[in-house]
Amino acid sequence: MSKDSSRLFSSDYCESPFWWERTPRSQAEPAQLPETVDVLIVGSGYTGLCAALQTARGGRATLVIDSAEPGWGCSSRNGGQVSTGIKPDFASLERQFGHETAFAVHREGQRALSWIGDFIEDEEIDCDYRVCGRFFGAHTARHYDKLAHKLESQPPGLEMKAFLVPRSEQSAEIDTSFYHGGLVQCQHAAVDPAAYHQGILERVIESGASVIGHTRATSIERSRDGAGFVVDTDRGRVRAGEVVVATSGYTSRLTPWQQRRVFPIGTYMIATEDLGDTVARSLIPSGRMIVDTRRIVVYYRLSPDGRRILFGGRVSLNETNPRISAPRLHDHMTTIFPQLQEAKVSHSWMGFVGWTFQHMPHLGRHDGIWYSMGYCGSGVALASYFGTRLGQQVLGLEEGRSVLSDLPFRTRPLYYGKPWFLSASVGWYGFLDRLGI
Ligand SMILES: Cc1cc2nc3c(=O)[nH]c(=O)nc-3n(C[C@H](O)[C@H](O)[C@H](O)COP(=O)(O)OP(=O)(O)OC[C@H]3O[C@@H](n4cnc5c(N)ncnc54)[C@H](O)[C@@H]3O)c2cc1C
Repeated sequence: MSKDSSRLFSSDYCESPFWWERTPRSQAEPAQLPETVDVLIVGSGYTGLCAALQTARGGRATLVIDSAEPGWGCSSRNGGQVSTGIKPDFASLERQFGHETAFAVHREGQRALSWIGDFIEDEEIDCDYRVCGRFFGAHTARHYDKLAHKLESQPPGLEMKAFLVPRSEQSAEIDTSFYHGGLVQCQHAAVDPAAYHQGILERVIESGASVIGHTRATSIERSRDGAGFVVDTDRGRVRAGEVVVATSGYTSRLTPWQQRRVFPIGTYMIATEDLGDTVARSLIPSGRMIVDTRRIVVYYRLSPDGRRILFGGRVSLNETNPRISAPRLHDHMTTIFPQLQEAKVSHSWMGFVGWTFQHMPHLGRHDGIWYSMGYCGSGVALASYFGTRLGQQVLGLEEGRSVLSDLPFRTRPLYYGKPWFLSASVGWYGFLDRLGI
């Protein structure tokens, strides 16, 4: 049921990410474009910047462009939950691709998770990174049993540190009776996503690359001599030896082949007003990241200062806007925490994650254009890690190889960039969630 909006929104309510308070978007005028570069990267999120860091440090003249301010996409507006991110379970990958490939794919997810902590430390990025663990709440008693099975049947060699929390003990994790216990995944972490992005941006600029915002790529053509590409933008033309596309959920007709393989799904977030020193912390005393076992997932956490709840999820069959999504997310939040009935919303925002038909990211090269995209809602570690691998691939380095480059990147008949099947899928999954299946 929708709420009285005059009571829901705080007096300083705004429709931009909470994270942008600490890390505002750049107001700088875009610089002039160079005529020629070695590597041109379209998209300045984690993928584009991490690829740029490699190519610039590898001595290639590198330009990153973005149609909005640098980092405007998902990379400065996400929930800051840092996970392994590979969605399909081991058994289903094993059925499709065999044991060795399934193992290698899951290993890549685990590598991404451990890599990002080292990366943040090595690059000295100040972004509230914390290995706090994640509580995976069981929506039903049956889901709790499934979590127990998941824990017991971790494939040998891929065991992750985790433990079960029965319902009778869950108040140490979270002050709700909504869940039937849960699983704590100890290696998962938290980050301030926009501060993390800003830190990478600074390292990329220090490495000599240019990052220019408000410059939309409008076409990518092979140059006549076949030696590279001509990239047209709404601010002029650039010739590039190599082109990398790092547009994930914002992939467009600019790259039709990729557009047929990745589809945009809107995901929505709110921040509560400052709830003071103790209220938010008492709701999540463990300070962990939280998700639950429903198919239409919700994800939430404390703000880094522990004074707010940041709550995200999918709120409707079709895409909507932050004014409409805020009361719906507030409803979801108060189903879990009825204590927050009177808490106001100070920020509401959304972004488009890139999803793939195999529920896994993909990176590689098609028609000479490099790409990495489709992190399926879990791209903080994966986009950074695969962006780095992609940059290494551009440099021709063996360490850039990934099993995710070797798997087929599939499309579906009749899909050309508009996910017409999405509302039906969301409706069906929501129905199954309501049945508790
Ligand atoms: C609300 C929300 C919550 C999320 N929560 C989490 C989370 O808690 N944990 C997690 O792991 N992941 C989360 N994600 C997903 C994660 O943020 C993304 O997977 C990741 O940031 C993708 O990074 P990227 O660099 O590939 O793409 P993006 O950061 O989306 O960057 C793509 C960029 O490409 C630019 N672009 C597109 N077309 C053009 C063009 N023609 N010319 C120039 N520029 C162009 C866009 O402007 C955009 O800035 C969340 C996402 C959202 C939206």
